[in-house]
Amino acid sequence: MEPVDEQSEAEAIAAHGRDCREALGELYEFLDGELTVERKETIRGHLDGCYDCLGTFDFEAELRAVISSHCRKDQVPDDLRRRIAEALGVTDA
Ligand SMILES: [Zn+2]
Repeated sequence: MEPVDEQSEAEAIAAHGRDCREALGELYEFLDGELTVERKETIRGHLDGCYDCLGTFDFEAELRAVISSHCRKDQVPDDLRRRIAEALGVTDA
């Protein structure tokens, strides 16, 4: 059995992985605007130098924008709501 090269793995995590995990761990809080200014700056600083995380953040932010605009469009129109109510026999107009 070859010994596992733990040293270089630890170095790789120290150089990149830990910051990424921290940034990604706060992805949703970041997008929800629930982080302190200080934490946001830390994450923004990380995104400036890490295209992997930047891509993930961008994707999530875009996904949220699509979902929220889609949800607004999907609100039941008044006349459809009325027709459903009529069909159910619960019209109160
Ligand atoms: Zn990263």
